[in-house]
Amino acid sequence: MWGWLLARVIAVANQKGGVGKTTTAINLAASLGSLGEPVLLLDLDPQGNSTSGVGIIPADVAHSTYTVLAGTSSPSEAILETKAAGLEVLPANRDLIGAEVELVNMQNRELILRERIATIDSKYRSIIIDCPPSLGLLTVNALAACDAVIVPLQCEYYAMEGVSALVATVEMVRESLNPPLQLEGVLLTMFDTRNTICHQVAEQARQHFGDKVYRTVIPRNVRLSESPSFGLPILLYDPGSRGAQSYLELARELLERRGLRQAPGAG
Ligand code: ADP
Ligand code: MG
Repeated sequence: MWGWLLARVIAVANQKGGVGKTTTAINLAASLGSLGEPVLLLDLDPQGNSTSGVGIIPADVAHSTYTVLAGTSSPSEAILETKAAGLEVLPANRDLIGAEVELVNMQNRELILRERIATIDSKYRSIIIDCPPSLGLLTVNALAACDAVIVPLQCEYYAMEGVSALVATVEMVRESLNPPLQLEGVLLTMFDTRNTICHQVAEQARQHFGDKVYRTVIPRNVRLSESPSFGLPILLYDPGSRGAQSYLELARELLERRGLRQAPGAG
């Protein structure tokens, strides 16, 4: 009943690398923040790309997702502000590689992240988890800790390959650990309208997932690939770019689906 007061936890997951998880986690988070919804971006990938993508040098942080999981830092010790309004980050770095090994020996090893998230300050409306490119214990922890999953699909020939393994993992976690878990949506990324493969992937995704596929499609946009090297979400790097506008649109679609915002043109 009080659920609306709590942050909605969304995991961005796909065991394939390079499909747009991190780009989506950073830019969806920054877009929600800019729309007045305070967000925590939780970096769960030892590569720390979400961390560096919002301007923090992973190797420089002492408190991180790793130390939070290990129980040696509290989330509030580890969480950092970013330059983007309404966006804070729980950073990750290579230490997190060790977590996967250490978690194996812990009791309730699939539920550690969930326990830690329960201790996070309630000021956020959303917590967005950037998952690593695997279906290992870290991703299972994310699925066990979240309300919903966003699956980015890169518009290329093998896009749907592996999606059934991901869906099976989501179902396994729902049955065993986290019954309310939902597939929030499937996001088409790096879309190029001139490429027929892209249209085929979109068609396949819509056949398979129906209206779970977001209306918003993220175009291939070079500004999106440049912005991480400046440590800035696209909204700060180039707010007028198609990339920035598409992630803002995605944030609005998400809020609309949550019933927090009226459909465009609805008054
Ligand atoms: P993942 O986290 O799934 O491994 P990334 O978000 O890091 O994927 O994206 C992989 C690469 O593609 C990165 O270099 C990123 O900058 C680039 N990229 C992601 N989305 C887009 C896009 N819409 N347009 C252009 N480049 C993109
Ligand atoms: Mg990534």
